[in-house]
Amino acid sequence: MKPQPTLLNLSLLSTLALLAGCASPSCQKSLSPLAPPPPTQAVQAAMTPAQALAELRAGNARFVAGQPLVRHLPQEVTATASGQYPFAVVLSCLDSRQPVEMVFDQGIGDLFSARVAGNVLNDDILGSLEFACKASGAKLIAVIGHSNCGAIKGAVDNVELGNLTGLLGKIKPAVDTVPDAVQPRTSKNYAFVDQVSAANVRLVEQAIRERSPILREMLDQGQIALVGGMYDLKTGQVQFFDK
Ligand SMILES: [Zn+2]
Repeated sequence: MKPQPTLLNLSLLSTLALLAGCASPSCQKSLSPLAPPPPTQAVQAAMTPAQALAELRAGNARFVAGQPLVRHLPQEVTATASGQYPFAVVLSCLDSRQPVEMVFDQGIGDLFSARVAGNVLNDDILGSLEFACKASGAKLIAVIGHSNCGAIKGAVDNVELGNLTGLLGKIKPAVDTVPDAVQPRTSKNYAFVDQVSAANVRLVEQAIRERSPILREMLDQGQIALVGGMYDLKTGQVQFFDK
């Protein structure tokens, strides 16, 4: 039998919920801490690339545990209306199952998000990353692929479809980097598909460094960091690659 809540317990619960800025019954159940306000210019400037990565790790852990911070989104809208100082930029796939702010438990103004099928790189995405870091002060570039990716499967199976054909062509070099011993080399082989996804992330990381002198200089000077990782559709977990 479940213990009945005492008046003291109820009082404590409501106090904690109020401290968390949330008085609705559904919020009171969670008792999660209140999210910090969106980063200001000073907060962003004081953050190191390592701290930015640590925050992405911590946010993903909260997401996986089902314990996101409590957010008052209209307040975040107001707080960011006159400027934005995100601490990281995430390049990830179009896939609807990998919503970036949600899986990293971040709010409005926390992250730049570049999304394109297969998290491929092109000049416009590269320009966006330069804008995020050089013009807007983000401290980390995270390239995040994911398991069971439809774009990767399309590249593996040599799908041709309108403008998608050219996009999938950008993934083909990753297919070729996976050793021939991995068989069969079709979209039915999930292990193969995920190996191609991971290889694609690593090639995109490499290409960012090679194709952007601006970002390469910032990386070399330690002003920003670049990290790759994979999001697992089954668990919600992001596994960052070791450097
Ligand atoms: Zn995908």
